[in-house]
Amino acid sequence: MSDAVIVLDQLSKTYESTHAVADLSLTIERGEIFGFLGANGAGKTTTIRMLCGLSRPSSGRATISGADVWRQRNTVRTKFGYVAQRFSLYPDLTVEENMRFFGGAYRVPHAQLPARIDRLLSLTDLVAKRHTAAGSLSGGMRQLLALGCALIHNPPLLFLDEPTSGLDPVHRQQIWNLLYDLSNDGITIFVTTHYMDEAERCTKVGFIERGHLLAKASPRELIESFNTKLLEIDVDPVMPALVQLREEPEVLGVSLRSGSLRIFAADPDKLMTRWRDRWPFPELRFRGERRVDADMEDVFTAYSQGYDAVLKKR
Ligand code: ATP
Repeated sequence: MSDAVIVLDQLSKTYESTHAVADLSLTIERGEIFGFLGANGAGKTTTIRMLCGLSRPSSGRATISGADVWRQRNTVRTKFGYVAQRFSLYPDLTVEENMRFFGGAYRVPHAQLPARIDRLLSLTDLVAKRHTAAGSLSGGMRQLLALGCALIHNPPLLFLDEPTSGLDPVHRQQIWNLLYDLSNDGITIFVTTHYMDEAERCTKVGFIERGHLLAKASPRELIESFNTKLLEIDVDPVMPALVQLREEPEVLGVSLRSGSLRIFAADPDKLMTRWRDRWPFPELRFRGERRVDADMEDVFTAYSQGYDAVLKKR
């Protein structure tokens, strides 16, 4: 039996002439940490808003635990917590008052509320900030509070729209540790992010580009979808090299990594043989070469830039 929690079936949203989400079909299983990746404007927030019953699909449908996200939105809303991209808390209310407010909105029984708040304060490491106004918390603490508020009704599913955007590495780590704990408790997590290291922490990753789903697989499967090792070269001076190499007909793209240039090319060995025979840039000094395995950032670049020649299948 399928353990699908979220099912999207040709889900679409059109704003006048913009196809924000186009025929999106995918299934997310119970307990998955699903990372939804895409450039700005790719359609991530629009997808989440439809799944949360905040925006009506133009066509297609989606279900959460079998219930239609639009037609049965009042039922569906009790099944998930939502951490929005923008600050969704009441800045004048204290940490505890915000949790109490969300508890009321989600109709958590009065008798259960104090124990839930205590548990969530401790989970989010906000016990000492209990009586502090939300508006005076640091960005990281605000996000932890938003997470705590989203969990007040013990939902089995959590949507997070760029929860770590703009946070320092310590708070990013803290939020991810919390997500791991929740996933370990069987909670399904749907998270959007622009950080590739975060994508690698997900159990499944989906790439969206201009409303279309380009791929959905585990991070390892995505990395293994590269059909070649990448060529990395050291050239001086590096910036002019980057600009010139991009113009080479056999080069699909170039990215700068820790001072070296990573070359996307269908046949890097052939390219390197040609360069070894005759280096065509007299003003650039070639210093060395190596082959490297692709990482998530390379995979995202290849899918989003359409470098099909380096991918096994699309
Ligand atoms: P970001 O990473 O910047 O949040 P995103 O992937 O979440 O981007 P969306 O916010 O879903 O992208 O936007 C997808 C497309 O739909 C964009 O072209 C955007 O301009 C458009 N769009 C989103 N909301 C509306 C709206 N209410 N009216 C008109 N167009 C919209």
